[in-house]
Amino acid sequence: VTSGAETSADADVSFGIDIGGTKVLGIALGPLDEIVAEARVPTPTAPAHPDPVDAAGDTGVEVAYAIADVVAQLDAAVRGVGGSLGTGGSGSSSVGVGAPGMLDREGRLRFAPNLPQAHGVNWRVLIGERLPGRRIIVENDANLAVLAEHRLGAARGYQHVVMVTLGTGIGGGLIVDGRVQVGGHGFAGEIGHMVVDPAGPPCPCGRRGCWERFASGGGLGLMAREAALAGRLPEVVALAGGDPEGVRGEDVTAAAVAGDPDARRVIEQVGWWVGFGLANLACVLDPECFVLGGGLVGAGDLLLDSARRAFDELVEGGPTRPATAIVTAAFGERAGAVGAALAARDGGLG
Ligand SMILES: [Zn+2]
Repeated sequence: VTSGAETSADADVSFGIDIGGTKVLGIALGPLDEIVAEARVPTPTAPAHPDPVDAAGDTGVEVAYAIADVVAQLDAAVRGVGGSLGTGGSGSSSVGVGAPGMLDREGRLRFAPNLPQAHGVNWRVLIGERLPGRRIIVENDANLAVLAEHRLGAARGYQHVVMVTLGTGIGGGLIVDGRVQVGGHGFAGEIGHMVVDPAGPPCPCGRRGCWERFASGGGLGLMAREAALAGRLPEVVALAGGDPEGVRGEDVTAAAVAGDPDARRVIEQVGWWVGFGLANLACVLDPECFVLGGGLVGAGDLLLDSARRAFDELVEGGPTRPATAIVTAAFGERAGAVGAALAARDGGLG
């Protein structure tokens, strides 16, 4: 718990919103950094449209309406508890928003492999039009997640942190000298698209062999389907209803937790790829702490131990280096929204 809020010129409650692949999640963060309200709506699906420019606008507008809906729900919830918080139910004058992909410093989405229909959308403008009178702060979701983990979560006390979100792909956020790094154009931390095998499997970004094709939940599914089609992983295939093509990462995790040695080997293989990437990142950034988040972390110690072993074996200088912590995220699916609320309170990433 930190106490910066009491001196903030803003309202006592800050709103943070995270635009996810399936849901728009919002939280209201109180003066003692406690989550006082939460709201969520499904992420609108892209309208079918022949013109890519207009389609981008349509998709962005729908998401902006969904965000306004979440803010209205948070306003109502905060009014409901306003007495106990002493806010008078004023809501939040600033709204922080986390969005996936490469955002420039104007809040425009330049590139998002997993959200191509929204390319070119200026989130700050679109969302601002739906929420007049409020200051809108838009940042990359992973940059906000690392802010939350650094300030309030698993990386408290460290000044040099890399957050790695192992979901469908890999998201990355960097803290150097206690501050979130966004790079020269806003695009720093796109660690999932470091190419680790130029002849590897194709990536939604248009290239081949990106780290996230090997070390994410999506990578786990890919490896497992390959093994299943080659006649291995019978128990995992059974979990997937008998169809090798239908095997998902979650099926492998479930079989591994139940003790299936084949599934455990696949998880360990993915863990090796995680550690391999962390060792490369350590060469560039020398963090004190890696925070691992995202659905793949649900595979537990099997994955983490394998990643730690690979990191120790592969990192330059090996045993001569001081230990680097590899920990799991504290905020789970709320990390982006909590970081967005912190950025709203601070007026940006600082
Ligand atoms: Zn890629």
